[in-house]
Amino acid sequence: MLRSFFIFLSQQKSLRRWMEQSSFAKPLTRRFIAGNTLEEALTVCQKLNREGILTTLDYLGESVTAIEEAKLSRDHCLDAIRLIQERKIDSTISVKLTQLGLDIDQNLCYDNARQLVALAQQTHSRVEFDMESSGYVDRTLSIVHRLHQEFGCVRAVLQAYLFRTEADIKTSNALGLPVRICKGAYAEPDTVAFAEKSEVDTNYLKMTRLLLEEGEYPAIATHDDRMVASATSFPKDKFEFQMLYGVRRDLQRKLLAQGFRIRVYVPYGEAWYPYFMRRLAERPANVIFLLRNFFKN
Ligand SMILES: Cc1cc2nc3c(=O)[nH]c(=O)nc-3n(C[C@H](O)[C@H](O)[C@H](O)COP(=O)(O)OP(=O)(O)OC[C@H]3O[C@@H](n4cnc5c(N)ncnc54)[C@H](O)[C@@H]3O)c2cc1C
Repeated sequence: MLRSFFIFLSQQKSLRRWMEQSSFAKPLTRRFIAGNTLEEALTVCQKLNREGILTTLDYLGESVTAIEEAKLSRDHCLDAIRLIQERKIDSTISVKLTQLGLDIDQNLCYDNARQLVALAQQTHSRVEFDMESSGYVDRTLSIVHRLHQEFGCVRAVLQAYLFRTEADIKTSNALGLPVRICKGAYAEPDTVAFAEKSEVDTNYLKMTRLLLEEGEYPAIATHDDRMVASATSFPKDKFEFQMLYGVRRDLQRKLLAQGFRIRVYVPYGEAWYPYFMRRLAERPANVIFLLRNFFKN
């Protein structure tokens, strides 16, 4: 119920505009958003790298409707890839295809994504393509598969709450395409997705196994102790854990100390509202936590 409420709020454009421009919001978001600028985010990545944690940088933005805006996002991501290399940061980038123009034109989006992956290949890095709501899955995978075949240095994201994911994992495994498996963060109808958390969890465990046994260097993206435990008996160099910036830092450190590879997803930028609201939807208790810290500071 609360989850649906926050997902509903995340889609409210006028509230979004107001929140993103208001000065009181910044201290509230600091826990989950690494900063407004690329510089701030790179500093966070360097700090995490020094602790032994790998990163994936996410320039926040999605659902762009203007060609120029999509090109600006692409150029920003190209700068990020260049600076990651120049500063020898151990990081990939993560991007959403609607940020690169998927809602405008699939060819335009492909061309933008292709430029990112071409540069990532030159700089020995990787582009991770986040997965958005279910209406985007076919178009996203079609672009990611093409780029994988041409360049190799990409990762797809699949969501355990979707019925179709088992088939998509089998295809990815056959192609040798690395996958990040997550539970899924959007509100989906019960015609395409498991409705009950217990069903999503059961499917997550099944998908994780399929990836660890047959897939190419999967990323197990979760903060859930039970999901994490299901992967720890597999060889440490054959996969990585991924977690979100500011979430379960205790678990991140514990896994690191045990010798597992861990990559933290580092979001930054001015368009933080939808991402932030999805994090509150996952754990409404965060609202109390954030407000308490806000008043304390
Ligand atoms: C690296 C990474 C990339 C992701 N990429 C995508 C993507 O491309 N597409 C997509 O749809 N989803 C993505 N997600 C989000 C994902 O789908 C889930 O919504 C999110 O990770 C919560 O699921 P969980 O596995 O942590 O389990 P849950 O069952 O939601 O949570 C398990 C436990 O983790 C902790 N926890 C979980 N979320 C939070 C939070 N926000 N704040 C504090 N504690 C929390 C709590 O202790 C909770 O009890 C990504 C997640 C990660 C970690």
